[in-house]
Amino acid sequence: MSDPVILFAARPDRWPVYEAPLRRALSAAGVSDAGLTLEAAPETVDYIVYAPNSEVQDFAPYTRLKAVLNLWAGVEQIVGNETLKVPLARMVDVGMTDGMVQWCVGHALRHHLGMDVHILGQDGEWRNDAPPPPLPQDRSVVVFGLGELGSAVAETLVKLGFDVAGWARSEKQIEGVTCFAGEAGLPDALARAEIAILLLPDTPATTNLLDAEALARMPKGAFIVNPGRGPLIDDDALLAALDASQIGHATLDVFRVEPLPKEHPFWAHPGVTVTPHVASETRPDTASQVIAENIRRGEAGEPFLHVVDRDAGY
Ligand code: NDP
Repeated sequence: MSDPVILFAARPDRWPVYEAPLRRALSAAGVSDAGLTLEAAPETVDYIVYAPNSEVQDFAPYTRLKAVLNLWAGVEQIVGNETLKVPLARMVDVGMTDGMVQWCVGHALRHHLGMDVHILGQDGEWRNDAPPPPLPQDRSVVVFGLGELGSAVAETLVKLGFDVAGWARSEKQIEGVTCFAGEAGLPDALARAEIAILLLPDTPATTNLLDAEALARMPKGAFIVNPGRGPLIDDDALLAALDASQIGHATLDVFRVEPLPKEHPFWAHPGVTVTPHVASETRPDTASQVIAENIRRGEAGEPFLHVVDRDAGY
């Protein structure tokens, strides 16, 4: 059998970052790396290692393609591409999961502990009269989205002693986590979300999940941490809820338009922390192992891992 042709189709500056880890991982998986390339005639390509911001948007000329292997966890920019007829695998990367757990827990702890009082208030005043934060078991955190990332975040918060709930499309059983499912479970999940962490994909069903009505259902002064996707939140409804102190603070990593335009009111709002889509990046070493394993599977005729459900959109 000839060596598979593996086209790397991501932003050009990613090639120097990924080339060596991919070659190492392919060799370790017993797959030849001879066909790993930045350029190939479309009709010769077996696999595309892909980022949705790549120039490749029309897959029709790739007539012998076996799979597209996404380097990102989010697939909203490619899932509806009708020229793509072969399996689309998304990124599930232990390195990214670790990073996301740390980012979410860090920001949740900032709000839980009220750290801003001391970090931002360095003005010579000895402010030791604020009441202590509640114990973690008296702080309810709800993780919206209990997939690869959300379930790992929820499990870590349980280990820290928090009162943890989660919400997903399907019923879940996660030790120590009160799980809600579907539309029927949403009001109860919202009602206990003193800290809401959003780790849902961007699909038609999740757009504007946190609208005015949902925000009003949350406990007064609730905190929102959103590393999921911008369209999960209705921006105007969030700004109104912040102004009314219904929401205490929102830490937002993702936005409807990225980079977040300079004139967007989130930048100047004291109740919003903007981070520039940095919650957790794909880590080249661990991600390359996932890509290589999928190519090994493709060559062995085994089913691919982490295949996207194109109808569900994630
Ligand atoms: P998964 O696909 O593993 O999990 C998605 C979760 O969302 C699942 O639990 C799923 O439910 C739930 N879900 C989807 N649609 C609905 C719905 N309509 N109602 C209720 N629950 C729903 O994804 P990951 O955990 O790997 O990633 C989550 C998202 O995080 C990504 O899609 C991406 O947008 C974002 N992300 C952001 C990064 C950043 O740096 N900011 C980095 C990486 C990812 P069920 O389990 O029932 O299917």
